[in-house]
Order: sequence, then structure tokens, then C-alpha cells
Amino acid sequence: MKEKVIKKLNLIFAERLLLEIDDRISYGYDGSFGQYIPEAVVQVLSTEEVKETVILADEYEVPIYPRGAATSLSGGPLPVHGGIVLDFSQWTQKLEIYPDDLLIKVSPGVKTEDIHKLAESHNLMYAPDPSSSKICTIGGNLAENAGGPRGVKYGVTKDYVIGLEVVTAKGKVIRTGGNTVKNVTGYDLTKLLIGSEGTLGIITEATLRLIPKPQDTLTAMAIFDDLYTAGQSISKILTSGVRPSKMEILDQNSINKVEDYAKLNLPRNAAAIILIEVDGDEDVLPKELNVIKEALESIGVNDIRIAESKEDEENLWRVRKLVSPAIVTSGYTKISEDATVPLSKIPDMFKKINELKNKYELDIVVFGHAGDGNLHPSINTNMRDQSEVSRVEDAIEEIFDYAIELGGTLSGEHGIGTMKRAFFEREVGQDGLELQKAIKKAMDPKNILNPGKIFPQDGEKRLVLRND
Ligand SMILES: Cc1cc2nc3c(=O)[nH]c(=O)nc-3n(C[C@H](O)[C@H](O)[C@H](O)COP(=O)(O)OP(=O)(O)OC[C@H]3O[C@@H](n4cnc5c(N)ncnc54)[C@H](O)[C@@H]3O)c2cc1C
Repeated sequence: MKEKVIKKLNLIFAERLLLEIDDRISYGYDGSFGQYIPEAVVQVLSTEEVKETVILADEYEVPIYPRGAATSLSGGPLPVHGGIVLDFSQWTQKLEIYPDDLLIKVSPGVKTEDIHKLAESHNLMYAPDPSSSKICTIGGNLAENAGGPRGVKYGVTKDYVIGLEVVTAKGKVIRTGGNTVKNVTGYDLTKLLIGSEGTLGIITEATLRLIPKPQDTLTAMAIFDDLYTAGQSISKILTSGVRPSKMEILDQNSINKVEDYAKLNLPRNAAAIILIEVDGDEDVLPKELNVIKEALESIGVNDIRIAESKEDEENLWRVRKLVSPAIVTSGYTKISEDATVPLSKIPDMFKKINELKNKYELDIVVFGHAGDGNLHPSINTNMRDQSEVSRVEDAIEEIFDYAIELGGTLSGEHGIGTMKRAFFEREVGQDGLELQKAIKKAMDPKNILNPGKIFPQDGEKRLVLRND
């Protein structure tokens, strides 16, 4: 990068411009794989600073990479072509609630958990709840269109964003949407930008929609003797007339890893468990759970345990929260996918993953957001064993292809980033790919905004987990 650019960045950011290698290295990774060292990092604290940086980047054609808390599991914030990382994690000044309008306005670096807390203190709820909400930022959630366990009833991030402030690739500050749920003025740029992974514009403020906080919750754990029935029960529950607020599945391997890790008295022999939460009026909840119980009994559930106290309920949800830490401590590197399939195809996907486990001799754990078909097959991998890494790459490719064959998608919530870009065309087709590239070109003609993401690189045909 030209010395001139560094000098100009220094004038804007002073001590918030990081050039030392020790600092830059820590901006070279995310929750996925690969390490890429940026040439400079700037810790932005205002729209004006973003604007000035983008104008510089545009003039000197330097790549810029927005970055929140770097919990992305798809390589989203990685600075794959050098350039400047825009660190948003320090920009938390705005977190304003407008209870009468059911709105919150936020800066991009605000942690999702802080939005939840503020909304709840007004008896309201910001529904999207990625499991990483204690650490991830709203900017990252917006750029990835993050989901979470509550997605089954309440949808995902895009369903709760009604307005954005965005810095374009030319350094212009625009506003999309506004302060009203209804707004049909022109193209829906808000929806286009949500989930665009920082490749179309840089989000500097968001207006989020709130809903009333449900009065209470009730949780049950359904225990199954075979995985196929567990998969089938998901559609059965969702067509029972009751909409659970959360529905998470763990296969036997996940159950045992959590049990080894935390000793929670889980049924080790079960093929799968499903954790089901209903929320709403406290008088109605037992009746709703009863409807679900009858649906499950009709399909052949082994046992159903209903939480008898709030402590019981917390313990049941602890099981789900501990899956990732339990996997990480039990082996090597956790490679987590999020191929998503239509609800009726969940049993087929389970069957396929089991076949792949045997075919490639891999330690695959399956858990995830059962209620919206969003499974997280996670593979414990020794990244130093090239033969094992190749088998993992083959297995993941088969999972992706099968998800698409079943009418599903490569990614339900983690995004395409660098990890899935080689497969992008398989889902959207050649014409679909060309149209998406044309949108990128129109909005970022010099390809300075988060380059190397979403679109396959020249000749790239498959997933490569190691970039050494
Ligand atoms: C343990 C764990 C659990 C997780 N659970 C879930 C889950 O339940 N649901 C889910 O959806 N995801 C989950 N994730 C993935 C991840 O947390 C989400 O994708 C999250 O939205 C990323 O937020 P972040 O602040 O870490 O963003 P980063 O990882 O820093 O960045 C993500 C993307 O956003 C872009 N970006 C960041 N800020 C901006 C901005 N202001 N403007 C434009 N682009 C920007 C980046 O360039 C990048 O492409 C999980 C991850 C972990 C590690």
C-alpha cells in the first residue's frame, strides 16, 4: 500500500491507526480458517471516518474489509488481498431506544446482547438471537443476516431491520428505508444490503424493529431412539397447530460430547434429542406443550421431559449452549457447516451425513436449529493431517451438493464468505451468478469492498481448508 495512503490515514486516525505487525496479525483471522495479514487497521468511530477512509480506498484502489467481532464462520471479514481492515468493534456510541415507536437505533459495533438487554428493560424484544450474541456485533449480524434459535418463530435479522445508513463504495452516505415498518419507496435496498457480507456498502447505522416481549416460556426435551424419527418429528411439531419459539436438535454424538464435558445426566443411548421451547401467555403454554407432546407420541418419541422450574429450563438450554465448547475440547479443529434443507428433507439429510461419517471415517457431530432446517454438521479435524483434511473437504462438498439437490441452500445463516464461494454457482446457476456479479459491479465498480468474498475466484472449483 502506498506510503501516501498510510500518511493520510494517520491524519484521520492517529493512534487508532494500527500498523505494528503484532496488532495486524490479530486482525487476520475469524471463526473459520486461514490467516491473512492486513496492511493497516483503522478503528473507526464515526460515519465521517468511514467515509474518508472509503474515499481514500477508492482513489488509491485499496481493498477495505469491515470487521465486527470476527465470529464469522465463513471467512467474512478476512483481509484476503491485503489492504485496510475497518475495525467497528469500538464504535458503540449509539444505542437508543424509542419504545413508543418500537424502534432501536444502533451504531455498527454494538453487541447484539446489549440490544437484547435494552429492549427487555422496556418489556420489548429484539428477536434475532445468534448463539454468539454475547460477543458478536450488530454490524456483523446485518452483513451476514444472522439467524439463531428463535428463527423458527420469529425469523432472522432482515425481518427486523427497517432502515440503514450506509457508506457506498464511492464514499457517499445514503439512507435506506426509514422509521416505519411500511415503506415501498423505490427498490428495497435495505434487504439487498442485509446479508451482502460487506461487499456492497458499509453499514454505519441501523434502525431495528422491536416486538412485545413474550410473557413466559416453557421448555421440554424430547428423546428419540432413532434419528430418522427425530427428523420426521420436526414437521410433525410444526404442523401440530403450535409454533415453538425454539426447536434445537442434537444427535447422539453431540449428546455424548456434552455429557463427557459437563455431566448433565443426558440420555447417552438416545439417537437424538430435540429441545423445544414455547413462549407467550403463561396460562396457554402448558396447553401448547401438550399439543406438541401428543404430536410426538403419535410419531414414536421415546420420552419427553418437561422443565418443572426455571432452573430446570436453564439447565436444558445449557445442553445446547455447551455443544460447541464440548466439541472444541473433545478434539482438534471444529469445522462447522450450515447447509439448510426444507423441513420434510431433514431426515434425508441426517441419513446422508451418517453415510458420509462412515464413508470418510470422520468424527461428525450434528446439531442445529431443527425448526428451520438449519443443521450444523460439525467435523472434528486434525488440520495437520492433510489426508484427513482432504476427506473433510470431500465430505463437505457432498453435504453441499446434497443440500442443493434436496431444494436447500449452502448456508442458512453463516454466509458464503471465502468458505463456500467455490460452490456458489452450483446453487444460483450461471445466470444467477452473472446477475449477482452485475449488482456488485454497479455498486462497487473498483471491487474495493471486502473483495474475495461470495464470488468464486478464477478457476476455483472446490473448498480448500488450508491456505498454506
Ligand atoms: C460460537 C458461535 C456461535 C454462532 N452462532 C450463530 C448463530 O446462532 N446464528 C448465526 O447466524 N451465526 C452464528 N455465528 C456466526 C457469527 O457469530 C455471525 O455471523 C455474526 O453475525 C458475526 O458477527 P461479527 O460481529 O462477529 O462479524 P464479523 O465476523 O466481524 O463479520 C462478519 C461479516 O460482516 C461484515 N461486516 C461487519 N461489520 C460490518 C459493517 N458495519 N458493514 C458492512 N459489513 C460489515 C464483515 O466484513 C464480514 O463479512 C456463530 C459464531 C460462533 C463463533
